[in-house]
Amino acid sequence: MFSYRHAFHAGNHGDVLKHTVLIALLRYLTQKDAALVVVDTHAGAGLYRLDGDYAGTSGEAADGVVKLFSALAPAGAAKPAIKDVAPLLQDYMETVGGFNPNGQLKIYPGSPFIAQRLLRQEARDKLKLFEMHPTDIKSLVANVSQLEAGRQVAVAREDGFEGLKAFLPPPSRRALVLIDPSYEIKTDYTKVSACIRDSLQRFATGTYAIWYPVIARPEAHDLPRRLKTLANQAGKPWLNATLAIGQDEARNVAGEPNSRHGLTASGMFIINPPHTLKAALQPALAQMQQALGRGRGKGQLLESGG
Ligand code: SAM
Repeated sequence: MFSYRHAFHAGNHGDVLKHTVLIALLRYLTQKDAALVVVDTHAGAGLYRLDGDYAGTSGEAADGVVKLFSALAPAGAAKPAIKDVAPLLQDYMETVGGFNPNGQLKIYPGSPFIAQRLLRQEARDKLKLFEMHPTDIKSLVANVSQLEAGRQVAVAREDGFEGLKAFLPPPSRRALVLIDPSYEIKTDYTKVSACIRDSLQRFATGTYAIWYPVIARPEAHDLPRRLKTLANQAGKPWLNATLAIGQDEARNVAGEPNSRHGLTASGMFIINPPHTLKAALQPALAQMQQALGRGRGKGQLLESGG
C-alpha cells in the first residue's frame, strides 16, 4: 500500500494543474473575512527537492514545472518573463518562485506549503493535514515545524478519508477540501466518491477539489462521471478540468519510444467552484497545454455543470 511516494512525482504536469487550481481556489476563498478551514486529506511530505534523489530518479518535474518555467520564464524562477501569461498560471509560477528566491528551481512546494502560504493568521484560517506514509509523515511533521505556524496547521497520521469527517461542517461554515490520493489501490476511486457523498451530506456548501489520473482503467474513467452525478444530485455546481500532455514521441538511442513517464493526463474536479474560476482557468489551461504538450493525445478539457 505504501509504495507511492510523491517525491518521485513532485512538480509533474499533474501537480502543475492541481496546484494552479488550488491557488485559484485559495485566493478566492480568502477574500472574505470569515475564517477558512482547509483540509488536505492526502498531504504528502509538504516540500520536495527537485534536485534530490527522489525527484531525480524519475525526473517528472522535467515534463512539468521545469518545462513550464523554461517556456514562460526563461530568465529565472522568480517571475514569468513572458508578458501575456494567464493570471492564474502567473500566480502559480510566482508562488513556486517564492520558494526559490535564488532564481533556480530547486524546491517544489506541495499542497500543504502552498496552502499555508496563502492562508491568513489574522483571519484565523486553519490547515488540517492528513498523511499515512511512515516516512512522509515524518518529513511532513519536520517541514511543518519549520513554518512555526503554531495552531494554524495541524498534522495527523490518520486516514484522511475518515479524519475529514470530524471537520465538516466547520464552525465558520467555510471550508476547502483537497482530496488527492495516490490511487495506487483501486479502492481509492470508490473511497473518493463515498467520501464526497458523505461530505456533501455533512456540509453541502463546502468547496471540494479532487485530483484524479486520466488513465485507461474503468475506475478512473468512472470517477469524474460519479462526481458529476453526486454534485448534480446535491444540486451543487461543478467544474472539471483536464490536462493531457500526450505521448512522448522522442526516441531513445535504440530508436524505441521513450516511455519513461507513465502518466500523460490528469484532472481536477471541483464542487462548488468560485463562479469566476472557469473563465480564469480557460487561458491558463491552454497555456499549460502549449508549454507542456508533447505528441499524440495532448489537449485539455474544461466543462462545468449544475
Ligand atoms: N497533496 C499532495 C500535494 O499536492 O503536494 C500530494 C499527495 S500524494 C498524491 C498522496 C499521498 O497520500 C501520499 O503521500 C500517500 O502516502 C498518502 N496517503 C495514501 N493513503 C492515505 C490515506 N488513506 N490517508 C492519508 N494519506 C494517505
